[in-house]
Amino acid sequence: MIDLHTHSIFSDGGLIPTELAQRAYAAGYKALAITDHTDHSNIDFILPRIIKVCLKITERGKILALPGVELTHVDPGDIPLLANDARKLGAKIVLVHGETIVEPVPFGTNLAAINAAVDILAHPGLITEEEAKLAAEKGVYLEITTRRGHAFSNGHVVQMARKFKANLILNNDAHAPADFVSSKMANNIACGAGLTKDEIAAMFENSRRILQKLCV
Ligand SMILES: [Zn+2]
Ligand SMILES: [Zn+2]
Repeated sequence: MIDLHTHSIFSDGGLIPTELAQRAYAAGYKALAITDHTDHSNIDFILPRIIKVCLKITERGKILALPGVELTHVDPGDIPLLANDARKLGAKIVLVHGETIVEPVPFGTNLAAINAAVDILAHPGLITEEEAKLAAEKGVYLEITTRRGHAFSNGHVVQMARKFKANLILNNDAHAPADFVSSKMANNIACGAGLTKDEIAAMFENSRRILQKLCV
């Protein structure tokens, strides 16, 4: 199991990064990305600290920890620059908090994230056909989430991804220990979103593929 979308106390998660990683390890995970909510106020504060602790966690050899960010509720016009800043500061993975149907995320966020070619568009809500097509072209992974609320539109994301051959990735968006779901639950949520057995296998393979790419 791999979760490339988690939160620590550096945003609204409940645990310091080391405990978050230990909880993921105890739940059977091999790797996690720590991707705290980020905007202009905290990007240069959070990233050096997450990078430092991810190195320490990974050195121990039990679980691989990758430093990242989730650009959250920022103006869509600022997404390209902030994504670039995150990479310059050493983020291995850049997520954007997509237009989930349970929050008033600024309109245009999905499109700006895809145009900026971020790694993962998290919980993209009612992503449009145009956006899904562009995500496929740009190689932006669309997230299927196990998180309550955001998961309401998983079925729609699956339909759009299937239609335009966009790649899917399953994440927990873990904020607390109980959020690291079992592989059985991940599988059930994926089935519930309408994915076939082969599509689920391909989605889990995508997590491994991203991880390999990021660890080079
Ligand atoms: Zn989010
Ligand atoms: Zn998140």
